[in-house]
Amino acid sequence: MDYVAPVKSIHLALDDVAGLADDLAGGLHGGLDPELPAHILEEAGRFAGETLAPVDREGDRVGARFANGTVTLPDGWPALYKAWAEAGWNTVDLPPEWGGMGLPVRLATACMEMWTSACMSFSLGPVLTQGAVDALELHADRALKEKYLPKLVAGEWTATMALTEPQAGSDLAAVRTRAVKADDGTYRLTGQKIFITYAEHDLAENIVHLVLARLADAPPGTKGLSLFLVPKFLVGDDGTLGARNDVWCTGIEDKLGIHASPTCSLAFGDNGGAVGWLVGAENRGLACMFTMMNKARLFTGVQGVAVAERAYQRALAYAKTRRQGRAAGAPPDQSSLIVAHPDVRRTLMTMKAMTAAARAVAYAAAAAIDRARHARTAEAREAAERLAGLLTPVTKACCSETGVEVASLGIQIHGGMGFVEDTGAAQQYRDARIVPIYEGTNGIQAIDLVTRKVLGPGGAIAETTIAAYRDVGAAAAAIAEPRLRLLGDVVVEAADALTQATAWLRAPERSPEELLAVATPYLRLFGITAGVSYLAKAALAARARREAGDNDPIHADNIATAYFYAQAIAVGAPTLARVVIESADALPGPSSLSDFAA
Ligand SMILES: Cc1cc2nc3c(=O)[nH]c(=O)nc-3n(C[C@H](O)[C@H](O)[C@H](O)COP(=O)(O)OP(=O)(O)OC[C@H]3O[C@@H](n4cnc5c(N)ncnc54)[C@H](O)[C@@H]3O)c2cc1C
Repeated sequence: MDYVAPVKSIHLALDDVAGLADDLAGGLHGGLDPELPAHILEEAGRFAGETLAPVDREGDRVGARFANGTVTLPDGWPALYKAWAEAGWNTVDLPPEWGGMGLPVRLATACMEMWTSACMSFSLGPVLTQGAVDALELHADRALKEKYLPKLVAGEWTATMALTEPQAGSDLAAVRTRAVKADDGTYRLTGQKIFITYAEHDLAENIVHLVLARLADAPPGTKGLSLFLVPKFLVGDDGTLGARNDVWCTGIEDKLGIHASPTCSLAFGDNGGAVGWLVGAENRGLACMFTMMNKARLFTGVQGVAVAERAYQRALAYAKTRRQGRAAGAPPDQSSLIVAHPDVRRTLMTMKAMTAAARAVAYAAAAAIDRARHARTAEAREAAERLAGLLTPVTKACCSETGVEVASLGIQIHGGMGFVEDTGAAQQYRDARIVPIYEGTNGIQAIDLVTRKVLGPGGAIAETTIAAYRDVGAAAAAIAEPRLRLLGDVVVEAADALTQATAWLRAPERSPEELLAVATPYLRLFGITAGVSYLAKAALAARARREAGDNDPIHADNIATAYFYAQAIAVGAPTLARVVIESADALPGPSSLSDFAA
């Protein structure tokens, strides 16, 4: 098996960073059995390692195939998807009213990490379906919910999120797909969408598209977008499938990675108009989409964590079998395993520590979403909602960058064998590269963090959160054990640097141009500070567990990983703060980016 789900590490991160065990004990999730998470993680990890991981390489090689308006996934995938859905895996955190298990988002996040590590192309379909369930649950009328949610929650039907058009990528104000109201209260849609994930496939009997479109009399820009449900097959009142709707897949993309995940172009209304139903109010489509954005972006960030974990496992296994050179102290007649070379070990530790930090940030964001839904008081729910909003762009961007960087380091560990396709390291890198691009590019995430989450209404959550990070550092710094003390010092230093950079953003003399110019380094600084603080929290918990007599070596390992992250990565936080504060000035204007070759 070339992927073993790190169930123990994941469970510790859920409990020690994301507070799952405490929240269960405190009744946040009703009477949920505290033993259930271990069982769910074990079974989801088993499915990932034993069933999904083995199809990943072949899926990459064969890919999705398009012919005559239909898309065929690799052999065996329909049965695989059926087995996954019938095991109930689509339903983990979905609402019980529609057949879901109603478990914490934290648990669903951890399961999604493992399935994505095993086969990212497979997991993307369910991510979209679950996002659509959230949108319908929050905004659709009762009749639409009753007709569609039970099938979507069970995974019998799948869903898409159809936003992008050739002229409308990051800028959804440019969406042109049209919707016209019919006499019977439904709508007719015409237009073209591109890059729509899993918009055509042979895994399920119906596909439900959630489509952003514009009514004829709508105001311009994003305030004139409405959300429509457009099924591939129309659904009768008794739930049976009827006529084919006027929405057709016209082709799929030939891509760098995620070859088995079909990326489709869709034509709506070439034969008179695709029948659609309004979700939410007219002209409120983008707002409907945004209400489910935190979880959708969290799950996208988790794809970075997932790819990083598998790349690390692969690289470690290779480093323990490949022999080259002679490490210091090795016998003269024997070459050493490359893991014996300090530079290789540093690279492996960088991969491991970056993955652990990214996982911690993602699970903390998932915990905030759970508390925003379930905390006892309105005040606590509102504070958690703000924290979730703050951590969402940080998670999406930092975790996706971690995926790309760790996968790249994984290739490096394999040397030349990493650059050829045989080892799978190259696939990991190719698959990872999309994550910083879709679901809002990382540049757009950085702008969201600075302009809306920090400088927008309720932005004081930034300072509250940074203060909490500093408190964790101070707690670690107060411990006599040298590694924890030094780790704590680095956390405090990073929190101070982030505070300084945040104050710079808030200064009244800042121009919008300056703020936008440094949004990305600010987001990175936030991510590193969050990462080292959450790892310090995990290290403090590991120490407490050891003091309570738990001698599992994983606890010493978690302290060592946090210490490495602090000393090798997070010490760079003050330099990043300097980049935020000083580099806007160094950015040339558009006219100075001359093409000297011309
Ligand atoms: C494999 C794949 C799957 C996808 N799945 C889906 C899907 O299921 N549903 C769907 O609707 N879409 C999907 N997309 C589309 C995806 O969300 C878009 O590609 C993404 O939003 C970026 O839009 P774009 O490609 O037009 O790039 P552009 O918007 O043209 O961006 C180009 C560059 O300019 C930057 N940029 C753009 N505007 C600004 C700005 N205002 N300020 C600063 N920088 C800016 C961007 O950060 C980026 O670096 C998918 C794309 C791919 C490749």
